[in-house]
Amino acid sequence: MLKNDPLEQWDRENFLHPSTHLADFARGNVAQRIVTGGEGSHIVDRNGNRFLDGFAGLYCVNVGYGRQEIAEAIAAQARELSYYHAYVGHGTEASVTLAKMIMDRAPDHMSKVYFGLGGSDANETNVKLVWYMNNILGRPEKKKIISRKRGYHGSGLMTGSLTGLPMWHKHFDLPLPQVLHTEAPYYYQRPREAMTEREFTAYLVSELEQMIEREGAETIAAFWAEPVLGTGGIIMPPEGYWPAIQEVLEKHDILLVADEVVTGFGRLGTMFGSEHYGMKPDLMTIAKGLTSAYAPLSGSIVSEKVWKVLEEAADLTGALGHGWTYSAHPIGAAAGVANLRLIDELDLVGNAGRVGAYLKTRMTEALGDYPNVGEVRGEGMLCAVELTADRSTRAAPDPADKVTAKVVGHMMQNGVIARAMPHAEVVGFAPPFCLTEAEADELVEKTAAAVRAVFGG
Ligand code: PMP
Repeated sequence: MLKNDPLEQWDRENFLHPSTHLADFARGNVAQRIVTGGEGSHIVDRNGNRFLDGFAGLYCVNVGYGRQEIAEAIAAQARELSYYHAYVGHGTEASVTLAKMIMDRAPDHMSKVYFGLGGSDANETNVKLVWYMNNILGRPEKKKIISRKRGYHGSGLMTGSLTGLPMWHKHFDLPLPQVLHTEAPYYYQRPREAMTEREFTAYLVSELEQMIEREGAETIAAFWAEPVLGTGGIIMPPEGYWPAIQEVLEKHDILLVADEVVTGFGRLGTMFGSEHYGMKPDLMTIAKGLTSAYAPLSGSIVSEKVWKVLEEAADLTGALGHGWTYSAHPIGAAAGVANLRLIDELDLVGNAGRVGAYLKTRMTEALGDYPNVGEVRGEGMLCAVELTADRSTRAAPDPADKVTAKVVGHMMQNGVIARAMPHAEVVGFAPPFCLTEAEADELVEKTAAAVRAVFGG
């Protein structure tokens, strides 16, 4: 690549970008940004602009950019053994070491990990394991999966179905018929103003119970959920939610699958979101933070209870009929090993908790009482500023005004990146765990300035 290569033109002519208006991009009506470098919490683009990345890429560059330890581990692995597969009992030093490191960190009742490439395929693996399990247990009718409106679990046919966002279904003939969506735990959008958090939890539980009753518990295999809803709007569960939901699931022998793709490896200030909320999942999905996105790698973690069935299933059915060429890719695994070591050495999980709490406090001080801010919420290194047309009624802004996009655009002009959450009027933050208090201050100041510039005042 030469400095003078017309990359901008090549980009418009050749590249179909995800989550992008394809026609507008090709016609030059969508801004393009070619990113060339990163260091700590910052990225740099081809025009020399530097940004404080308040979203860690797509909540994945958890240890920050430019970590030489990880780059060197990747290079060393590529030189020594760039690839070998994991089929029929094969492995590499890196993949075996990483499996051990993951299971050392996972909750005690978890047993083993299956490696994939990204969050979508790891969720796909977990769906297949759940179905396989119920076939082996002699209950082939117990296959439906309940996920939640606003949940995000991926973009594949099955995982896109689990995702509870209309944009991921419309025009793709989704969701597939085995998937049902129950209510989102979005207290800000509670059905009645006077509801307390506890009452809202009771309402959500009753909605779930009615769905299970309607469908028949004997047809429902699993409940799929992120500990904190991410892409759906950065939404923390209301008080008492997880214990109450788990009670229902246990009663009906429905598995709990915790999608920890965003929350895994420290984002909530604990190693896993399940730990944070006292969840006891039967399966877990991990990706992003496993390698801090230095290389693609994901995992499907099964509990001892699931493992026991898989063990029995193998004796009955033979080898597992499921695998990707790149399962446990050694370069991804080497990145994962170096990444998890770094997280421990620098206590980045502790930092995510500490600086995340600081960010939320400062954001609340700056914007908590602002007339067009309905709520500031956060947990660990996740923070959300919910915009409103009217604070007293919590009415959503007119979508035609595109206020969230305007706020985030203003911030970008000022050198900081937040995410206009695509399915809510929410300015979202998910910074790298190495964020400093001074950088948190900068995010807050520039958010407040952008909100004031867009709404006035
Ligand atoms: N689950 C969750 C909770 C996610 O946030 C994402 C991605 N944002 C996925 C799954 C899918 O991961 P990927 O894009 O790597 O397939």
